[in-house]
Amino acid sequence: MKVYISVDMEGITGVTHWDEVEHKKPAAYIQFQERMTQEVLAACNGANDAGAKEIWVKDAHYSGRNILAERLPSNVRLIRGWSGHPYSMVQELDDSFDALMMVGYHSMAGQGGNPLAHTMSSSKIDTVFINDQQTSEFFLHGNIAAKHGVPLVFVSGDAGLCEEVQGVCPSTTTHATMVGVGDSTISIQPEESRNTIQKKVTQALKGDLSGCVWKHPEMFVLRIRYIKQQSAYKASHYNGAELIDAKTVQFETDDYDEIMRFMLFTV
Ligand SMILES: [Zn+2]
Repeated sequence: MKVYISVDMEGITGVTHWDEVEHKKPAAYIQFQERMTQEVLAACNGANDAGAKEIWVKDAHYSGRNILAERLPSNVRLIRGWSGHPYSMVQELDDSFDALMMVGYHSMAGQGGNPLAHTMSSSKIDTVFINDQQTSEFFLHGNIAAKHGVPLVFVSGDAGLCEEVQGVCPSTTTHATMVGVGDSTISIQPEESRNTIQKKVTQALKGDLSGCVWKHPEMFVLRIRYIKQQSAYKASHYNGAELIDAKTVQFETDDYDEIMRFMLFTV
C-alpha cells in the first residue's frame, strides 16, 4: 500500500495564532513545529500499522520546511519546499497511490471555524467557490485525488473543517483537534489527539476505501473573490477568465488540472 499524507499546520491540535505557525517567530513556533511533527508521525504509525509499504509526506505549510524528518519512520519520503507544480499541497500525487490523508488542515476562507481560517492565501483571497460550493484547501486538493481515483480516507483539523469533510464525503474518517471560537480555540490534549490519529488512520486504511473516491462533475466553475480589486483585475487577464464584479473572477473548465493552474498563477 502506497499512502500520501499532506500536512498543514493551522489545524494541528491547539494552534491559535499566526505566530505559532511562522518559523520567523521561533518563540511561539518551535512548540507547534514539534506538535505538527508528532501528529504526522502518528498518522505514519497508523498507516504502517495498517500495512503501508511506502508513505509520501508533503510538508504543505508556508515555507514547506516545518516537519522534523528525523522523527519519521524509515519508509517515508518527505517533500519539502514548493516545486511550483499546480498540485501545490499534494505535489507528486498520481494514480499510483492507494490513499490520500490530510493532517492539520483547517476551516476555509469566509468561515469562523478556526482563528486562522483561510483558503490558499489569507492576504489575497476573501472566498473561493467551485460549482457554487464554498471551497477550502481540503476541497481544492481533494478534487485532485478524485481526478486520479485516489480515495481521501482521513482528514484531521478543526471541527469546522471536519463538518465540511463529512458533508462532502461521509465515508472519510475525520478527527477534530479543536473547536475555533472567534479568535480562540478549545482543543483536546495533544497526546490524546496523537493517539486518536494513529488509531483512526489504521481503522480507515483497513476499511473499505471505495466510498472515499469522489465523483468528478463534467464542468468546474471556479469563482474567486479577492480581497483587493487590483488582484481581481489582474487575474481576469488569465486566458479564459472573466471579471464578474470589481473583486470577483470566474474561470470555467472541464479539466480540473486547469483549476489548479489558475490558482497557481492568480493567487
Ligand atoms: Zn498552512
